[in-house]
Amino acid sequence: MSTTTEVSAKLLGSVALIACGRRAGKTASCAACARKAPTLLNIASTGALDALAAAICGSHSSACQDCHTKAETIINETVEERCAG
Ligand SMILES: [Zn+2]
Ligand SMILES: [Zn+2]
Repeated sequence: MSTTTEVSAKLLGSVALIACGRRAGKTASCAACARKAPTLLNIASTGALDALAAAICGSHSSACQDCHTKAETIINETVEERCAG
């Protein structure tokens, strides 16, 4: 069942990995982060940094600095470079 536009598994994988915490030698996220990846990617596509950070952090109010950084990374890497003058 594909209800959304085609999203490459590779992209979802990298979103999950960033959310999980990317480090040298780590090639896959944990199952929990993999499950969150489609949601995170949806939010990332809207460019809502705060909402994305909160979703990664699992908080409804405010995300921690670490998750803010992850959110920025996800947006930077998933949203194709546009003229962000
Ligand atoms: Zn994880
Ligand atoms: Zn956090």
